[in-house]
Amino acid sequence: MTLKITNPATGKQLRTLPEDGLLQVKCKYDAAREAQPGWSRTPFSKRLAAIKRFRAALVAEREPLAKILTSEVGKPIAQSRNELAGVLARIDFFIDNTKPRLRNAMVLDDGAQKMKEMISHEPLGVIANISAWNYPYLVGANVFVPALLTGNTVLYKPSEIATLSGLEIARLLHASGIPKNAFIPVIGGGKTGGALLKQDVDGVFFTGSYETGVKIARSVADRMIKLQLELGGKDPVYVCDDVDIKAVAAGVADGAFYNNGQSCCSVERIYVHEKIYDAFITAFVEEVKGFKVGDPADDKTYIGPLARSQQLAVLKQQVADAKRKGAKLLLGGGPLLTAGGKGNWFSPTVFSDAGQNTDLMRAESFGPIIGLRKVRDDAEAVALMNDSRYGLTAAIYTRDGRRAERVLSQVRSGSAYWNCCDRVSPRLPWSGVGRSGVGVTLSGYGIETFLRPRAWHLRAA
Ligand code: NAD
Repeated sequence: MTLKITNPATGKQLRTLPEDGLLQVKCKYDAAREAQPGWSRTPFSKRLAAIKRFRAALVAEREPLAKILTSEVGKPIAQSRNELAGVLARIDFFIDNTKPRLRNAMVLDDGAQKMKEMISHEPLGVIANISAWNYPYLVGANVFVPALLTGNTVLYKPSEIATLSGLEIARLLHASGIPKNAFIPVIGGGKTGGALLKQDVDGVFFTGSYETGVKIARSVADRMIKLQLELGGKDPVYVCDDVDIKAVAAGVADGAFYNNGQSCCSVERIYVHEKIYDAFITAFVEEVKGFKVGDPADDKTYIGPLARSQQLAVLKQQVADAKRKGAKLLLGGGPLLTAGGKGNWFSPTVFSDAGQNTDLMRAESFGPIIGLRKVRDDAEAVALMNDSRYGLTAAIYTRDGRRAERVLSQVRSGSAYWNCCDRVSPRLPWSGVGRSGVGVTLSGYGIETFLRPRAWHLRAA
């Protein structure tokens, strides 16, 4: 099997690579299994030093790594550089916060009794990390950095669309002192991912779509292993009537269109209080018109091509469905034709009066398209925000902190944002409800998830 890697801006083939079949995946699994006890016995200080060297390598090689990322996923180069800068804060969090979580905790030892009780923290073992392409460094590091620091070995399958970046991650980790068999890249698409799931791993950590998440959950259901699924979203924003319209329009437009709308926490639907609806729409459309669309290798580009050609059809269908159901097209509305007619280009698209029954307001768009809709009051906003099977993030813009708390406390989502959106912090747990997944990365919880707490009942003779 051969994996063809193409540049989504031009349609040109960048490289071909052999895909791992079942046999190769089994050999990689055997190697990771054999390496795991030794890796977990390696002193924590050595594991930590390797991750610190990896961090330094990301700093030293930031520019070439950003170029590779841009070439294979079409992310504008400035945003690729941002991703490589952003991952450092996550690594720093894990560097600073892992050691205390590995310590044994004596929970009963009053000296008077013979009985002691203790909790130790054991690595899960060998984990499979099946990753997405939209932020390969960020979503990858959320898993493989704490997994390695806590003594697990990792079979890392980058998305087939971000394979070159995945191979760079492996090269840098190995050069930094992570043993070759403690972190093993597994190369290929869905079929290779399926082969990985057949191995006797101790945990599966997946980032990707709900549809693939369901297949993964089914395929490991009878194995009773740790399963984490970080899936998609249909993240709502509610703009209240008391905001600075221009500033909020700029912030929300960035949340909807950054990375071409291809973020799990991209703003996907916008509800605006009726008192400012018209003015907000005007300011929002002005903002989107100002986004520079073009060659992702250009420093000034804000919107590049979509990473996947298949998404063009999804967006076209959402546009047709929205029009049919009465939404008003204000900007864009179709593929962008480039000079050579190649690449996955879609015009930044804005609809107003988007009904809640449209696919635009219900299904994940994962592209440069957004619907806005008027709401009467906070109660209607809450009802509409909750009208989704996803629940990753939800945002409100208002000057009134109490109003924000009141609204957000009624909305089901893993993350709640007041006067901000499309934001992830290493200090806070990243999780979703409903179809947005199960499990947690980042924060202390995102370290503990790679450890198994073990109970020790100790009675002195
Ligand atoms: P995807 O589901 O198409 O693929 C994700 C990964 O799964 C890839 O590595 C792919 O090769 C692999 N895969 C596909 N079929 C498989 C199978 N049958 N068995 C095993 N592995 C298989 O998703 P994508 O297009 O790479 O990513 C986009 C999706 O990811 C969006 O829905 C987005 O919202 C979501 N996402 C979520 C988060 C989060 O933190 N919640 C972060 C980034 C992306």
